[in-house]
Amino acid sequence: MISVRDAQTHILDRITTVAAPELLPLAAALGRVLAEDVRSEMDVPPTTNSAVDGYAVAAADIPATGTRALTVVGELAAGAVFSGALQRGQALRIMTGAPMPAGADTVYLQENVERDGDRVVVGAMASGVNVRHRGEDVQAGAVVLVAGSVLRPQEIGVAASLGLAQLLVRQKPRVAILSTGDEVAEPGTSRKPGQIFDSNRFSLRGLVEAAGAEAVDDGIVPDQFDELHARLLRAAEHADVVLTSGGVSVGDYDLVKSVLQQAGGIHFWQVAMQPGRPLAAGSIGRAHFFGLPGNPVASMLTFHLFVRPALWKLAGRRELFAQPFHATAAEPLSKKIGRREFKRGILSWAQDHWDVRTTGPQGSGILTSMTTANCFIVIEEERGDVQTGETVWVEPFQAL
Ligand code: AMP
Ligand code: MG
Repeated sequence: MISVRDAQTHILDRITTVAAPELLPLAAALGRVLAEDVRSEMDVPPTTNSAVDGYAVAAADIPATGTRALTVVGELAAGAVFSGALQRGQALRIMTGAPMPAGADTVYLQENVERDGDRVVVGAMASGVNVRHRGEDVQAGAVVLVAGSVLRPQEIGVAASLGLAQLLVRQKPRVAILSTGDEVAEPGTSRKPGQIFDSNRFSLRGLVEAAGAEAVDDGIVPDQFDELHARLLRAAEHADVVLTSGGVSVGDYDLVKSVLQQAGGIHFWQVAMQPGRPLAAGSIGRAHFFGLPGNPVASMLTFHLFVRPALWKLAGRRELFAQPFHATAAEPLSKKIGRREFKRGILSWAQDHWDVRTTGPQGSGILTSMTTANCFIVIEEERGDVQTGETVWVEPFQAL
C-alpha cells in the first residue's frame, strides 16, 4: 500500500520535461499555459485621463466654499487630444477616457455642475478626483503575467491592454485514451448479453480536455494479450500520455498489468484510498503511462488525483493542485482509518457556512453519484467516522 501523497510525489517526480512552446494569437490562447514572463513595455493607461464625463479644471480654481464660474474653452472626446493648456478661470468639457489637458488635475462630474452657455458654475470639492493616472494599472518594465500561469479571460485582456497580439504558450499535451475489457461495448452499438457500455473513455476524455490537454480516442481493447500489447505500443508512438481504464486489478483477465510488466518502468500500486485502489503509472516508450481502475467513479477520481497534476506539470503549470476548503458535515460519514476516502458530496450554503452531505450510495460503480455531486468530500487517512457538525475538507469539481 502507498499513500495518495506518495503516489502523487512519485508520479510528478518522473515528469521532467515540459511541452514545447508555440506562439498563438490571443483569440486562440484561452486556457493555455504561459511559457514566458510577460513584461510591459508601456504604462497602462498610457496617459492620465478622465474617469467620468464632466469638466476638467485646475485645483487652484476649485472654490474652498461657495461657487465659482469658469469659462468652458472646448470639448474633448475620448480618442482626441487637447492641444493647448488650461489657463486660470477655464474649464474643459471632457469625456470618460479622454486625456487630461495640460493645466488640469481634477474633473467635476457633469451632474455636479450648472452649465450656462460657455460658463459652468462649480462648487467646493476635493482636488485630484475623478482622474486615472498614467501607469496606475501597469508600469512600463513591470512583469505583468508570470510564466506557468493559466491564461484566463482576464490574463488575455491584460495582454491585449499591453498591445500584444500573440503570446508564447505551451503546446497541449496529447493524451491517448483506451478502454480495456471484453465486457465493454461502444455506445450507439448493440450491446451483447453480459456487456456494459463504455463510459470511462468519455468521462476521461472530458477530464483530459477540461485539463487543457488534447484527447486522442484509441477505442476499446479486448482482454487479449497480443492485441493490448500492440495497441498500447502504437498509442505511445503518437501521444505524450497513454491512459487506459480497467485491467489493473488482480482478476484473471487484468492484462494491462502483465502486458506492461514487460515494458518495464511501470509501477503497480495499491493506493490507500477509497474508491480506486489499483493504479499503474510509469512509461511506455517516450510516453507517460497511467493505468486507471475500471470502476467509473474510481477512474474519474484517480484521474483527478494523479493524471491531472501530471498533465499540468507537462504543460508547464506552476500550480498543480486545486485548493480544498472546509465545510461542515451535515450528516454522519462512515470512514475507515488508514486510507484516504473520497465521497461524492453536495455543497450547499447554510446561512453562514458551507454544509456538505453525500449524494447517497457511494459504490465506485455508481457513476450518477458524480452527476448529482458538486465536490469530493476528502477524509484524511488518520480519521475515523465523522459526526454531524464536524469539519471536513471538500474539493469542488472543476467548472467547465
Ligand atoms: P476491471 O478493473 O477491468 O476489472 O474493471 C472493474 C469494473 O469496472 C468492472 O465492473 C468493469 O466492467 C468496469 N469497467 C471497466 N472498464 C469500463 C469502462 N470503460 N466503462 C465502464 N465500466 C468499466
Ligand atoms: Mg477488465
